[in-house]
Amino acid sequence: MLDTLERAGVQIPNVCRSGVCQSCLMRARAGQVPLAAQNGLKDTLREQGYFLACQCQPEDDLEVVLADEDAVGEIPVQLIGVEQLSQSVMRVTLEPQQEFEYRRGQFINLIREDGLRRSYSLSGCAANTDGILELHVRHIPGGAMSEWLMQAGPHQQLRVHGPYGSCFYVAGKTDQALLLIGAGTGLAPLYGIACDALAAGHRGPIHLYHGARNVNGLYLVDRLRVLEKKHPNLHYTPCVLEQENAAATEEVAVGSVEDIGLAKHVNLKGWRSYFCGDPGLVNRMRKRAYLAGASLADIYADAFLAAAKPA
Ligand SMILES: Cc1cc2nc3c(=O)[nH]c(=O)nc-3n(C[C@H](O)[C@H](O)[C@H](O)COP(=O)(O)OP(=O)(O)OC[C@H]3O[C@@H](n4cnc5c(N)ncnc54)[C@H](O)[C@@H]3O)c2cc1C
Repeated sequence: MLDTLERAGVQIPNVCRSGVCQSCLMRARAGQVPLAAQNGLKDTLREQGYFLACQCQPEDDLEVVLADEDAVGEIPVQLIGVEQLSQSVMRVTLEPQQEFEYRRGQFINLIREDGLRRSYSLSGCAANTDGILELHVRHIPGGAMSEWLMQAGPHQQLRVHGPYGSCFYVAGKTDQALLLIGAGTGLAPLYGIACDALAAGHRGPIHLYHGARNVNGLYLVDRLRVLEKKHPNLHYTPCVLEQENAAATEEVAVGSVEDIGLAKHVNLKGWRSYFCGDPGLVNRMRKRAYLAGASLADIYADAFLAAAKPA
């Protein structure tokens, strides 16, 4: 439907065109919405006939309208600051201008004044954020949003649409073991989830593995080490693919983050796992965790898909 509407000159907001970012939300006023077009939507939205245009292949006539502003959940935010966390990763902070309920680990669509939009995960620790939204954005040279953010001064007005996704800490099973594996800015949601688990008094072990190509790609290392000292059930392992002398040290493991994480935990029966970042890594980890005994209901994942070009 998205392709058809665009060909007919109708502009529909969209980013991933894969059913993840939910930017192309629409509502059917009449006709039968295919179930596949409602995958991942909240029950309340499904019941009202909302669906994702990029996933919709109607089998019959459908009368459709753009989603109401209320259903989309879009709010104005002000850019507070951009701070380098590493050579290529920025901490971007935003102040919501209206009440905004979310869980760290979920993601939002960040919308610039000219309509450019990209998805980013919500990070940070409740103790430090004080109502401020924290994102970790990797600078992609030539990237429309990340390059603009690098140079954007404070007080810029943006909009945030969301939050989306189920990748967040759920209180209740405080003794359950948690496995958190991510690469690059995949650490953003995982850091938020680990902080929320600790703040909620989670007692089970929390194993966090963060992968990067080399040590320059790691970030928040000191902050995580401090957190690890304070909470004996948090185990943080930074991993790099390349190291100058290729030797693992006590501080940094050498190898792929997924192999290192799974070699340490061969039986994931009863564990809750979170995988974020590179889509290839996330898909492989989902399968590997399931094969290692994790129940599908206990696997949460967000693949950081790049924005798709229109068909
Ligand atoms: C659910 C979700 C959560 C996300 N969370 C985060 C997050 O927390 N932090 C974050 O930094 N990003 C995250 N992303 C990715 C983010 O939405 C953008 O795709 C990314 O910031 C690049 O946007 P851009 O406008 O700077 O680059 P674009 O202008 O979209 O792309 C410029 C060029 O770079 C290529 N490109 C885009 N992304 C990558 C990449 N990762 N690696 C290599 N080449 C790339 C594109 O194919 C294109 O050729 C997430 C994506 C999704 C779907």
